[in-house]
Amino acid sequence: MIPPGSGFPTDHATSATPVARHAADVQHLAGSADTLQDVDARSSVCRACPRLVAWREEVAATRRAAFADQEYWGRPITGWGDSTARIVVVGLAPAAHGGNRTGRIFTGDRSGDWLFAALHRAGLATQPTSTSAYDGQRLVGTRITLPVRCAPPANRPTTQERDACAPWLHRELALMRPYVRALVVLGGFGWASTWTALRATGAAVPRRVPAFGHGREVNVEGGPTVIGCYHVSQQNTFTGRLTEAMLDDVINRAKRVAALA
Ligand code: SF4
Repeated sequence: MIPPGSGFPTDHATSATPVARHAADVQHLAGSADTLQDVDARSSVCRACPRLVAWREEVAATRRAAFADQEYWGRPITGWGDSTARIVVVGLAPAAHGGNRTGRIFTGDRSGDWLFAALHRAGLATQPTSTSAYDGQRLVGTRITLPVRCAPPANRPTTQERDACAPWLHRELALMRPYVRALVVLGGFGWASTWTALRATGAAVPRRVPAFGHGREVNVEGGPTVIGCYHVSQQNTFTGRLTEAMLDDVINRAKRVAALA
């Protein structure tokens, strides 16, 4: 596991960063974070969900054979990208041997390959691949984040874990609210979490939010526009449920909404 304050590229924490050990701590530490950097630092050392902390650290200690020579990050994954982004992409949770290994969101796994390739085709990422926190990748006018920050077993966080983690996303979106024009939400889990987060930021969320759908678009009065997209998981990309063209359409739509086209 990479300790806080080691100089790792995505690490904003230090040994003095306060650590959340319970859901109530997350509420307090997220709510009192003054900057996006505070949210990133505090969430990256969070230990509020015992099952997820045990899992992320066990995976980091045992490692997959192909990555046996790499030190795994083994901590929560934070949002990453442009801090004044007009487009925010919301996923679900990090992959055990992807983000949990590389320390950067959607980095080092097949889902990330899909997402970053599409962002690059749209001019929103400087490189077509995202392999390591040291690869020089940079997002343009875009940030990627997620509602659950620790890798869950079988990619399935519990309801309690989802709710415990929610304040980090709420605060992140609240701090980014002056900038964000378009939210691209990958999958139904992120869709539900995003609406809860937008409500928490005081956005004018409709009383009845439409069900998740690929390409579904909802304009929140006063912004942002929320666009649904099938998740870039292999389950969707291998089966053709989500094609490159479908993903490109959604991202290009977000660019137009955000006046980045
Ligand atoms: S899932 Fe979220 S709340 Fe739970 S330990 Fe990880 S960062 Fe903390």
